[in-house]
Amino acid sequence: MELEQINKLLSQDDIKIEKYDIKFTKSLLERTTTKYIFVHHTKSAYPTSIEMIHDWHLDRGWKGFAYNFYVRKNGEVFEVRGRDMIGGHTKGFNDMSVGVCCEGDFDVEIMSTIQLTSTMKLIKHLYNYYKNPSIQVLPHSAVADKTCPGMKYPRIILEYDYTRDIKDFVKVQVYKDSFRKLPILSKTRPDQQFKYDSSVEAMQKLLNNNLYAEEKILEDGKFGILTQEKVKDFQELNNLKIDGIVGAITWERLFSV
Ligand SMILES: [Zn+2]
Repeated sequence: MELEQINKLLSQDDIKIEKYDIKFTKSLLERTTTKYIFVHHTKSAYPTSIEMIHDWHLDRGWKGFAYNFYVRKNGEVFEVRGRDMIGGHTKGFNDMSVGVCCEGDFDVEIMSTIQLTSTMKLIKHLYNYYKNPSIQVLPHSAVADKTCPGMKYPRIILEYDYTRDIKDFVKVQVYKDSFRKLPILSKTRPDQQFKYDSSVEAMQKLLNNNLYAEEKILEDGKFGILTQEKVKDFQELNNLKIDGIVGAITWERLFSV
């Protein structure tokens, strides 16, 4: 598929996601951060239902179906473990990532256009949902000694810029220098304190990624007193100058933790 065609296909968030009800042996725990989207394959050469995978995972003594999402060969998308639940797909990273599994063995087969499109639409949908441009899409093989999601898994799924037309967060390439180009945020600026500012909102989201549920601040895009306090706490915790102002160094830190 041409890049232009993919851009067009992904420009609308029109994906159908079916919630799939399945009995887990123990209750699932909620995740508080999402830094990565890990992609996987079933590595099966035959049609593989959600129940089959559920049984495999139960046999291993797990709670059951371990991925958050499942994409069938016909392009159907299922949310099995809730998107905000901790999965069991990527050892060491389950409490900070979403797991997306595609049906098939992509060590040997080529993914169909319909399955590719659904997978990319799902990932784009997740970027829209989490509104965090620093989320990374990674193959399971990046952190485990496996070929998952397969040697022939489409590179475009991993390399595509899903943030390209998402407007409500600041788009940031994680290069050192780019942090200097980000706006300096401070409570002393009336335009940021009293009016909505999308960079303030993006910064609040990043701050919240580092906070426990009960400490989270409102992501309202306004730099108020509470936001200032949390910025100061963050700076103190990271051995930065505690001035409550978000400049290049604080931005960089926010994106890297
Ligand atoms: Zn995997």
